[in-house]
Amino acid sequence: MKHGRKKPYTEIGIKRLPCARCGDPAYSQWQTCADSNLWRPICKRCDIALNTLVLVFMGDPKIDEKIEAYRRAIVKVPSNHIAMNLL
Ligand SMILES: [Zn+2]
Repeated sequence: MKHGRKKPYTEIGIKRLPCARCGDPAYSQWQTCADSNLWRPICKRCDIALNTLVLVFMGDPKIDEKIEAYRRAIVKVPSNHIAMNLL
């Protein structure tokens, strides 16, 4: 069963959980209305992939620029690693 709950996890608590998508160590959390508003732990790599997905969906004209800046801000991983998550 993937972790998720109605109340946000604490900063310390989230780091003890696996990512709800891939199982890597979580660092943050996401909440989606269609998912009963449950807070779900997420790792850095999946967070970047999810942010990319949303910008693509919204048709943002500066996707690459924004994602690269976000990636640099939170984690040092090769860009091709991110693309793999979207396939
Ligand atoms: Zn993950």
